[in-house]
Amino acid sequence: PIAIVWHRRDLRLHDNAALYYALKAGRPVLPLFIFDKDILDHLDDKRDRRVEFIYKEVLKMQDELQKMGSSLLIRYGHPLDVFKELTSEYTIANVFTNYDYETYAKGRDAEIETYLKTVGVGFHGYKDQAIFDRDEVLTGTGKPYTVFGPYSRNWLGKLADPFYLKAYPTEKYFDRLYQTPPTPVVTLDDMGFEPLGENYPKPTVSEKLLSEYQKMRDYPAERGTSELGIHLRFGTISIRDLARQAQETSPTFLSELCWRDFYFQVLDHFPHVEQHAFRREYDNIKFLNRPEDIERWKTGTTGYPLVDAGMRQLNETGWMHNRVRMVVASFCIKHLLIDWRIGEAYFAQKLRDFDLSANNGGWQWAAGSGTDAAPYFRVFNPTAQAEKFDPKGVYIRRWVPEYNSLDYPTPMIDHAFARQRVVEVYKEGLKNY
Ligand code: FAD
Repeated sequence: PIAIVWHRRDLRLHDNAALYYALKAGRPVLPLFIFDKDILDHLDDKRDRRVEFIYKEVLKMQDELQKMGSSLLIRYGHPLDVFKELTSEYTIANVFTNYDYETYAKGRDAEIETYLKTVGVGFHGYKDQAIFDRDEVLTGTGKPYTVFGPYSRNWLGKLADPFYLKAYPTEKYFDRLYQTPPTPVVTLDDMGFEPLGENYPKPTVSEKLLSEYQKMRDYPAERGTSELGIHLRFGTISIRDLARQAQETSPTFLSELCWRDFYFQVLDHFPHVEQHAFRREYDNIKFLNRPEDIERWKTGTTGYPLVDAGMRQLNETGWMHNRVRMVVASFCIKHLLIDWRIGEAYFAQKLRDFDLSANNGGWQWAAGSGTDAAPYFRVFNPTAQAEKFDPKGVYIRRWVPEYNSLDYPTPMIDHAFARQRVVEVYKEGLKNY
């Protein structure tokens, strides 16, 4: 019998918890990746950066494994169907995998675990993508944190123990990989997707960037952030390696990794946030959701240059600077009274580093409805934000070349008017609470 390691958002052989425990258990280990039809069928745009990225990374893994006489099994289908096939093709003792905290993934894993049990196959899950997860960081009374400050103090305190950032030395046991001739490859075309031919950022960050991170990270014209989001999303970099590097050079960067864990545990403990406001009363706010406003926001033609630059950067590259994400999200919700879920869904479709937990956290923060949210009456002024964080307009002109010309629209809404209106609308929505 063999063991299967089912890779999902951990597309690497190095420092991988599930792979390590599978190899250590002693049976021959065959790694597996499933292109999940349930997820892919929901993507309308068949030129999807994430799918292309995953595809490239999966082929890289397969290549690495083939060099060691093994292979990566690559399947396309519904995960349960794939496991049914695999249990008839191979004699499998156990399946090892790393946890995923999204509701869909938790349901899928539970279903597969139940099926595997009926055929006598063990299913084992591990923490790998987070530094601390589930109930590892709780309040004094054993409850999940809903405020970042105290969570991060507790998180940092625990991190003083080097144990948590130790790498899993998978390399030591690679001779236990299941030896097999190369297994067949599915193509992007087989799955109905087209390649974009894009280059993605490297899965590394320089010491220089980390040491200047605190000073530079708020200025969207600079390359002051790591752009590692996509690698963290798909596990093509080890969070432990990265956090150790940050521990030595940049407490501010480490704190961003703490936000990542924070939102994982919010999603894990409060799955209602996927559909609803974390603070339920915020579900009563009456948004306008005017189609023409939504369209102008999406296309970056609002007449607010920082908002427009951000949306165009997102549309063209699949990435947007964090400072600008905050500004465009606030503008969408508060200036235009568009439901945060509409903005959230648009980011989910476009962001190459899309991660349900962080995206939901970011949008609920901007809506004022989330765990550690900005109070609703605090409304970003997009002009003041531009003056402060892009004082020379370098970022704006990069993405909005017609800025300052007659072709550029006047602001679609007056800031003072919008500010007053949103405060009224929120007050009205929240008045019975
Ligand atoms: P860096 O500044 O280099 O940070 C390093 C890593 O830390 C990031 O890659 C990310 O994994 C993590 N991180 C940083 N900030 C946060 C944060 N606030 N919350 C959680 N993790 C964080 N981040 C996502 O990874 N996916 C999303 O879908 C996402 N959607 C967002 C939506 C909104 C409205 C807002 C305001 C923020 C969102 N963020 C999201 C958080 C943040 O903007 C991005 O992580 C960051 O801009 C990615 O760029 P970077 O990799 O250069 O980040």
